[in-house]
Parts: sequence; C-alpha cells; structure tokens
Amino acid sequence: MSLTAESHRIPLSDGNSIPLLGLGTYADPQKTPKGSCLEAVKIAIDAGYRHIDGAFVYFNEHEVGQAIREKIAEGKIKREDIFYCGKLWNTCHPPELVRPTLEKTLRILQLDYVDLYIIELPMAFKPGDALYPRDENGKFIYHETDLCATWEALEACKDAGLAKSIGVSNFNRRQLEMIMNKPGLKYKPVSNQVECHPYFTQPKLLEFCRQHDIVIVGYSPLGTSRDESWVNVSSPPLLKDPVLNAIGKKYNKTAAQIALRFNVQRGVVVIPKSFNPQRIRENFQIFDFSLTEKEMKEIEALNKNVRYVELLM
Ligand code: NAP
Repeated sequence: MSLTAESHRIPLSDGNSIPLLGLGTYADPQKTPKGSCLEAVKIAIDAGYRHIDGAFVYFNEHEVGQAIREKIAEGKIKREDIFYCGKLWNTCHPPELVRPTLEKTLRILQLDYVDLYIIELPMAFKPGDALYPRDENGKFIYHETDLCATWEALEACKDAGLAKSIGVSNFNRRQLEMIMNKPGLKYKPVSNQVECHPYFTQPKLLEFCRQHDIVIVGYSPLGTSRDESWVNVSSPPLLKDPVLNAIGKKYNKTAAQIALRFNVQRGVVVIPKSFNPQRIRENFQIFDFSLTEKEMKEIEALNKNVRYVELLM
C-alpha cells in the first residue's frame, strides 16, 4: 500500500473516511498539568494531524474542544477537516442514557457533532455519578444491559447527526458478531478500537475485521506509557526492541516511527499519545518511507500475543 501525507485516510463502510494517524489524548489527570492536552492538540494540528482520539473519561475533552475551536478561529482548519472520536463510558450503556451522554460530550467539546462515537468497552457498570462504581469489598459493580439495545441508541445518534460514524472498542469477534447479526441492524460498526502493535498484532481479529469491512484502530501503538497502575509492565518495552531499532537505523527513523508505520502500512489506524512537541511531530513523520515485505514479516514475527492493557475489570 502506498501512503502519502496527503492521502493518509482510509474509507469506512458508511461512506466516511478516517485518517490513518491520530493523536491519542489519554494522560493520567492526577499527573498531567492542566492545559497540556490543549497545547498538544494545537501542536498536532499544526504538524498535520487531523484525527484526535478522546473520551469523556480522559477528563480533558474540554481542552481538545478548545484546541480545535482555536485552530478553526485561526483559519488553520475547518471543522470538516477534523476527525474527532469520542467514547461512550461503561456507566452509560442503558439505551436511554446514550444520547444524553453524547450530548454532554458535545457540550464539553463545544462542537455540534463527533466524527466517530464508539462503545468504549463491551461491559457495563452500574449507572450513576461514580464512573468506577465499587461495592464495600472494592469489587466493581457491573450492570446488566443489552449491547444490541445500546447499539440501536448509537444508530439513533447517527441518524440525528450527532455522530457521523459509529463503532466499538475492545470488542472480540463474538461481540462484533452479536451486533452484526442483530435483527434489524441499521448500521454496522465501522471500526473496532483495540490494542495493536508489533508485540500484539491481532492477526485473527484483523483478518475477521478485514472480511467484514471494519477498520481496526490500534491503541497503545507505542506500547503504552508503562504506567504500572494499569499497564502490564512484565512485558518488555516495545520501543527498546532490537528489530524495530535496527530497521529504524536503515531509514533514519526511530523505533516508534517503525512501529507506527508497520500498522498503517497494513491498514491499521494508529493513535499514538504524546503531549511532547518533538515526539508529536516525530510520530507524524511516517508517510515518507515504506517498509519492505520482508521487514513487515520480521515485525509481524515479533508478536508475543501478550497485552499491555489487560483491562482486568
Ligand atoms: P501509546 O500511544 O502507545 O504510548 C504513549 C506513551 O509513549 C507516552 O508515555 C508518550 O510520552 C510516549 N511516546 C509518544 N511518542 C513517543 C516517541 N516518538 N518516542 C518515545 N516515546 C513516545 O499509549 P496509550 O496512551 O496507551 O495509547 C494511545 C491512545 O490510545 C490513548 O492516548 C487513548 O487515546 C487510546 N486508548 C484507548 C483505549 C481503549 O480502551 N479504547 C485504551 C488505551 C488507550 P509523551 O507524551 O511524553 O511523548
């Protein structure tokens, strides 16, 4: 596949398209200075990014929205140039909560629509103010909902123009099939956002999604921030990998750029997070070279089938 900075988008099954490279915006709210996300998104837009990945539970959607609106006001971009992905959190799965939750996100962003709205996880928590509800023993309080009914509520959001496209995240094949085989399905998921990088290449899910025209969006494409509170750090750091570094040397690129290029070259969208100006720009410089078939195979062979993000909940 030949990809250039100008044409780095791939089509979605509903007629829209998604930029292959986006900026991830998850950063621990306790450890991240206020305004960092705002600055990062502005720098990213100046560097050429048009896709921003966010979520209500990242607690910085107001900064993402402000950055986008400032860049529109500056005349740098138009709203339609930007692709923003928002996410429906676990406490908001009951169908009657879906549209109000998306409307809340739109109020926070101060935007009229999101480009993609996805169900963040396939399981529900008890609805309420607590985003991570726990019982007296510290155990998560789950909530029984019907994922198909939640999906129908997302379909209604698309019909209302509040989301241009709708998709899912962290869904396995069985959960995707449940939605796709739902009687009366109006729109199928255009994308499935899952962990995906050279140590966790997702060959089976990728093949299944290819067959069904579902784009894989790879999260943690650089191997995460290795924050021990939610990352399995027993798996070695991806960016120290000798193969990625050796291939990088050949092209005068970093291991990070090779890891990102590997995924986009096989049609997987990547959403690396960086709030560092130099690394934001570095991560965008992946459209001016391509990996050989042999190098793609070498990187594929690094797969360990081990997740950094175990989602033990
Ligand atoms: P990631 O993008 O794989 O890695 C981010 C870490 O790498 C940060 O510590 C960042 O630090 C560092 N970094 C960025 N560019 C670098 C470079 N060129 N060289 C060296 N280090 C670099 O991890 P992630 O944040 O887990 O995943 C990315 C995004 O995916 C998230 O932000 C979020 O939007 C999304 N996500 C979604 C889910 C889901 O369940 N749907 C789960 C996890 C993540 P600096 O900021 O200091 O550069």
